[in-house]
Amino acid sequence: MVEVIPQPDDAGPFAWSANGPRVTRCFTRRGTGASRAPYAGLNLGSRVEDNPAAVARNRATAAAALGLGEERVVYLHQVHGADVAVLDSVPDREPVADALVTTTPGLGLAVLAADCVPVLLADEITGVIGAAHVGRPGLVAGTVAAVVAAMRACGATAIDAAVGPAVCGACYEVPQQMHDEVVALVPEADAVSATGTPAVDIARGVLAQLRALGVPATQVLGCTRESDDLYSYRRDGRTGRHAGLIVLRFNSS
Ligand SMILES: [Zn+2]
Repeated sequence: MVEVIPQPDDAGPFAWSANGPRVTRCFTRRGTGASRAPYAGLNLGSRVEDNPAAVARNRATAAAALGLGEERVVYLHQVHGADVAVLDSVPDREPVADALVTTTPGLGLAVLAADCVPVLLADEITGVIGAAHVGRPGLVAGTVAAVVAAMRACGATAIDAAVGPAVCGACYEVPQQMHDEVVALVPEADAVSATGTPAVDIARGVLAQLRALGVPATQVLGCTRESDDLYSYRRDGRTGRHAGLIVLRFNSS
């Protein structure tokens, strides 16, 4: 059910991108962009104290690579919850939520991450798309189930998902009690760190949640903490954010 695709080594803004019959999905990489250290590269996060002008230029670059104007991509004010914003147009302000759903062609959806798991979902047949940001709290809160339910409420019947680069289990050490709380709810997230201490594997937990919901998934490999071409809060603390981006195209070609 899970297909693993290594990251291509190219010079574009994307670590991975895919064009389905109606939907384009991609995960950005750090690469080159307008931001300077400690955000250097294509930082798309607007809440990390980077220069707003640099972030705006980077967001324009990412949107253009998707074939969209920058004003057509919706970002979120992410709060590690399970709320889903269902949109049919660009809102006046960034929704406070961790997932987005739309059926509107030409409306790009973005989720930001720097170790957490970006998830891009689509039903290519009915034309329902979604994006979710899932960290440890979201894994426990049920963000994946919430976005899938919202998509199904919009008419989706055959969703598949792309799970983006995230911190791997070996790099995500947590206190024993935290480990136990997560694993009690999502046993598949059980992991051991590189030094043999308790850890959690959020991406593996997300994949298990998708599988339980009947949603086939593709995992894009790449540990954020181990790859200099991805942003990692665990590695760097003060740093930027890469993104998962998805859009339902106007035509079906
Ligand atoms: Zn790792």
